Amino acid sequence: MTFQEFMAKVEARNPGEPEFIQAVKEVVETIWDVYEANPRFVKNNILERIVEPERVIIFRVPWMDDQGNVHVNRGIRVQYNSAIGPYKGGIRFHPSVNVSVLKFLGFEQIFKNSLTSLPMGGGKGGSDFDARGRSDAEIMRFCQSFMAELYRYLGPDLDVPAGDIGVGAREVGYMFGMYKKLRNEFTGVFTGKGRTWGGSLIRPEATGFGVVYFTEEMLKTRGENFKGKRVALSGFGNVAWGAAQKVTELGGKVVAISGPDGYILDEEGLNEEKINYMVELRQSNNDRVSDYADKFPNAKFFAGKRPWEVKVDVAIPCATQNELNAQDAQNLMDNGCTCVCEAANMPCTPEAIEIFFKHRILFAPGKAANAGGVATSGLEMTQNSMRLSWTREEVDEKLHAIMRNIHEACREHGTQADGWVNYVKGANIAGFMKVATAMCDQGLV
Ligand code: NDP
Repeated sequence: MTFQEFMAKVEARNPGEPEFIQAVKEVVETIWDVYEANPRFVKNNILERIVEPERVIIFRVPWMDDQGNVHVNRGIRVQYNSAIGPYKGGIRFHPSVNVSVLKFLGFEQIFKNSLTSLPMGGGKGGSDFDARGRSDAEIMRFCQSFMAELYRYLGPDLDVPAGDIGVGAREVGYMFGMYKKLRNEFTGVFTGKGRTWGGSLIRPEATGFGVVYFTEEMLKTRGENFKGKRVALSGFGNVAWGAAQKVTELGGKVVAISGPDGYILDEEGLNEEKINYMVELRQSNNDRVSDYADKFPNAKFFAGKRPWEVKVDVAIPCATQNELNAQDAQNLMDNGCTCVCEAANMPCTPEAIEIFFKHRILFAPGKAANAGGVATSGLEMTQNSMRLSWTREEVDEKLHAIMRNIHEACREHGTQADGWVNYVKGANIAGFMKVATAMCDQGLV
């Protein structure tokens, strides 16, 4: 079978799932040669098996608002691949959630989790619930209803979810509480838990910190570091917050952040007070980044625009899939940007990535660069199993080492004849080899 025939088959089997097809294409394209060269993989038909989720659970989530009106949302959990460990991957609450989005995220998660070198399979879940404007009581009732069905399919050795877009410590708390009540047991079935009930230090910041550690490793390959670099971030959620802290700590200057309403240009750069204000904005259920410009008058707000038109050295998209397109990529190149690191999952379109490749810049895919989040979740699972809690320094050191190892694995498998590193290829091959080998070893299951 050729690559084109393979993709045609995947498209025919998964109609109306563009995000999923995009993710499969990106991975399979880069591992095709390695796959074909391995008769054991071909004999076991690993590629066709790996793109098929082991299980997709779809369920009804009824809940009542504060006025007594009844609503219904759709809950989904994709249990994608358990070849190297229990299913592991976040839960996303956002109106854009559907089977295609969660299959793309679950598929990516298989390779990301493999890259961390921790024993975790791939999964992802969520709902099309829109939390905007909902009261705390409404959010609690929704989370409880979601878990009243999903709990049957979870367990510390079976499937361990975490947060993602729209799911932070509060939502994890409500879901964990319901799980505990229904199961009548206290186990590490969620990660991203609160500190006093099994959560790991550093987990909230881990994704953003890991992204910056990875970027630092990429910069080092060109004899550079963050000092004095201008950096643009998108989003002002959990990941952007961690990234902003670490970039600032390493001497970089975050000059742009964004929200769905537009972006902020702050030539003075973010500092501790401004980063804390980002958190305040999020916690107030406010999706307007424009408020930042009211609070800090030297900052300018650009309505309806994306931060990729700002002159920066490093760009770190931290919001959502396909948020940086070919035009944005061209703008970044025209302005002399030399490093783009994906913090969100699949934030750059294939056309944008092509432009980065053409310019031979440092470009890292989310599955490698943002793996620090799930890696620290893995460390939380280990601490839960051992019934102990590591210090901040211990967790941070382990996270840092994991990010360095992932960078090394990408270099090993992605270095091209001219010396340039194709991190996309490197990450896909490194992540794939381990899972494919495990699937062969375990027989036709
Ligand atoms: P948050 O919900 O904390 O923040 C996401 C930010 O992106 C918010 O500013 C949100 O604004 C914005 N956003 C979300 N969806 C859209 C959209 N469709 N269009 C425009 N803006 C949007 O999520 P996280 O920071 O946790 O996650 C951000 C990204 O990082 C996601 O791709 C996630 O999968 C990825 N990631 C997260 C990890 C984690 O540990 N949290 C781990 C690895 C990856 P609004 O809410 O107003 O829409």
